[in-house]
Amino acid sequence: MNIALIAHDKKKQTIINFALAYKHVLEKHQLFATGTTGKLITEETGLAIHRFLSGPLGGDQQIGAMIANNEMDMVIFFRDPLTAQPHEPDVSALIRLCDVHQIPLATNISSAEIFIHGLEHGSLDWRKIMKGKKEY
Ligand code: PGA
Repeated sequence: MNIALIAHDKKKQTIINFALAYKHVLEKHQLFATGTTGKLITEETGLAIHRFLSGPLGGDQQIGAMIANNEMDMVIFFRDPLTAQPHEPDVSALIRLCDVHQIPLATNISSAEIFIHGLEHGSLDWRKIMKGKKEY
């Protein structure tokens, strides 16, 4: 599965810890990330990650484009709800696209853990079935 990892600055350590804890699951999938998030996770975990631009420079939109093209299967996006983001419109657009295209989106570590356990048990296989279908 193609999985996107994104974290706002105050959540970067959380996503690093998450990636360390679940490296054994994540390494079986194709990973994508916004620039800084991807750099930090790779440095700390050794996971191979395709890095897009930094979020404020368009990285969220690049991940959004993959969602729109039915090329992303899951988004793990640790948002910081207590800090204003200069690229808030891009953040909202990414979340909206997940809902438009029925892509699983975890915005905090609690829901992300449930997703990861789902991946481990293969209970998110519905994406494999949906892939390739234009209308759903
Ligand atoms: P970053 O972008 O990983 O480049 O910091 C994340 C974001 O703020 O969307």
